[in-house]
Amino acid sequence: MKNNDLWNAFFNRLFSQLETPGIFQHGIIPTKDLEFSADVRKMCEDNVCGRYKKSWACPPAIGTLEECEARCLSYSHMLVFNQVFALDDSFDYPGMLNGMEQFGHICHNINTLAKQYFTDYFLLGNEGCNTCGTCTYPDAPCRFPDQLHPALEGMGLYVYKLAEQAGMNYINGKNTVTYFGGLLFHEEDTAVPGNKITPSGEEASV
Ligand code: SF4
Repeated sequence: MKNNDLWNAFFNRLFSQLETPGIFQHGIIPTKDLEFSADVRKMCEDNVCGRYKKSWACPPAIGTLEECEARCLSYSHMLVFNQVFALDDSFDYPGMLNGMEQFGHICHNINTLAKQYFTDYFLLGNEGCNTCGTCTYPDAPCRFPDQLHPALEGMGLYVYKLAEQAGMNYINGKNTVTYFGGLLFHEEDTAVPGNKITPSGEEASV
């Protein structure tokens, strides 16, 4: 069995512990295969989502594209995950916001679990941080740095490419919206006692 199969089993077990509705799909990409795009960052600067210069979780607060790339590449792999939310129709903006809020809860729960499994990780969500009603940026430090999950797009990553690379569906049917997140981790952490699965494919003693 390939390492990816073992890791998928490992992450399936991790996701099975989620209290919220879980994950629809997940896949793993070696970080060396990630493509960081200045064009995606340009969309941030053009304020396409309205969050540029408004959050500690978005550009420019998260650093330059080069700094974001270096931070991501300090990990060996990215686990990409998604969840699909039903909409009344393709213009159902409240439905999209509701899905975004639910996906934020999923990310927070993954963050809680990741602390138990990884010595070091970096969790990315979709469209910046929604933890507080109003972000403190730029007047005061982030209230909850532990819950600050920058957006995949803010890192300069095209989400549709991540989905393709991870073998996942970017679009999941009429009247649905799919949100994506990413967990950057070190390969060695999948082999610590308690995690059961080693990168070499053997069961670790627990
Ligand atoms: S946790 Fe609060 S203060 Fe920190 S980035 Fe998110 S919204 Fe802003």
